[in-house]
Amino acid sequence: MNNEIRVRFAPSPTGYLHVGSLRTALYNYLYARKTGGKFILRIEDTDRSRYVEGAVENLIETLQAVGLEYDEGPDKGGDFGPYFQSKRTDIYNKYVQELLEKDAAYHCFCTEDDLKKMREEQIAKKMDVRYDGRCRNLSKEQVQENLAQGKPFVIRAKIPDEGEIVFFDIVRERVSIKWETVDDQVLIKSDGYPTYHLANVVDDHLMEITHVIRGEEWLSSVPKHLFLYQALGWKPPKMCHLPLLLNPDKSKLSKRQGDVAVEDFLKKSYLPEALLNFVALLGWHAQGDDELYSLDKLENEFSLKRISKAGAVFDVEKLNWMNGHYLRSLELGYIAIKAKSFFVEAGLDISDNEKYLKIVDVTRNRISTLAEITEVATPFYASLKYSEEDRQIINDENSQKLFSFWLDNLKALDSITEENINHLLKQSTDKLGIKGKDLYFPLRLALFGSVHGPELPVIFDILGKEETIKRFTKILDLK
Ligand code: GLU
Repeated sequence: MNNEIRVRFAPSPTGYLHVGSLRTALYNYLYARKTGGKFILRIEDTDRSRYVEGAVENLIETLQAVGLEYDEGPDKGGDFGPYFQSKRTDIYNKYVQELLEKDAAYHCFCTEDDLKKMREEQIAKKMDVRYDGRCRNLSKEQVQENLAQGKPFVIRAKIPDEGEIVFFDIVRERVSIKWETVDDQVLIKSDGYPTYHLANVVDDHLMEITHVIRGEEWLSSVPKHLFLYQALGWKPPKMCHLPLLLNPDKSKLSKRQGDVAVEDFLKKSYLPEALLNFVALLGWHAQGDDELYSLDKLENEFSLKRISKAGAVFDVEKLNWMNGHYLRSLELGYIAIKAKSFFVEAGLDISDNEKYLKIVDVTRNRISTLAEITEVATPFYASLKYSEEDRQIINDENSQKLFSFWLDNLKALDSITEENINHLLKQSTDKLGIKGKDLYFPLRLALFGSVHGPELPVIFDILGKEETIKRFTKILDLK
């Protein structure tokens, strides 16, 4: 084995990609990039009861959509495949035989019914619910006889029943767990498929994984895994368990798909750049208090040492803020492409590309997700509607004077420029004595349908001479 860092993202394809899993994938990816190592995608699909049609494709598409490219994986190949666990069952069987021979595993013939009774008795006696090890000491002959009779069985790990295991985790540091709290884990199920625990350990070893970086919910499985590594005479990888994700009220993050599925965030038009930046900070931060990180910058600055133990709060407000930042700061052309489908869906004309780009440029400053863009852009297209309050401003004598003044002067202009608009604004004050909000509110109402909005020269520029003349004519007709 050489010294290359090899890390993996090992999802079970049970549906959508959870934001927590995106964080796991990202941290693995970043660690590989930072160290010049390899990032591997392995599909842990041995639990056939949880298999969901299309989940793998969906997962791969989502990783691609956010730009987390892996070096080895199902559709990519590599020297350590296959990368689907369901295609590796022979491999697991070989190692489970070795565990049986070494007396580190045993056949268990307990039926569902036996286990149910065991559980009920333990609950009644207020004991911890776990397998009581009754098949541990079956003689070789008994086992052979049961197998010959075709009795269904599982294979369990013969976990030590006393003492404790101590190990080192990069985030949690020293961890000790009493063996008596660890169950005799099933390694091979009655359908012949391995459980996650066996397959995970065998594959991490055979795929030469150097660091296991995954969610904290797997921390309690580490003793079972280390037991298997030891029994098989293998060196375990380094462990790194990422802090829990929490709701803002500090409860465990919701599992409702709409709140946590990465593909749903993408569908809701969150930018991949914002999503990655946001999940990167769920449990990691660099020195200093910079919060904005492109993927390149993360690749440079990421380190496992700066992952925190404390749970990380998933705050959608912060994601919205970041998304707004990326909407404003990424290249206009890129944002315009992303915004297109929203304009088309809202029936807004984007055939004049120059005008469309200008509209995207002003509106992107006023939104936090692209889904809001057409609402802000509509006044550039549609006929304007006014409230009672607006009408009072419109009907005011000064406003009317102002509208006529602008209508006349616009007609006389060759073209609209920032300079001549600013000049007319100044003249409105000098000649008509109208200034401040008495000037800006009616003009915005006439052109944009609300008292607040983009700067006036920008509105004039986007609408153009003909359309602004139309809008002033229309507002004068209102009275
Ligand atoms: N298949 C496990 C999951 O779905 C992977 C856990 C691990 O990384 O070991 O989360």
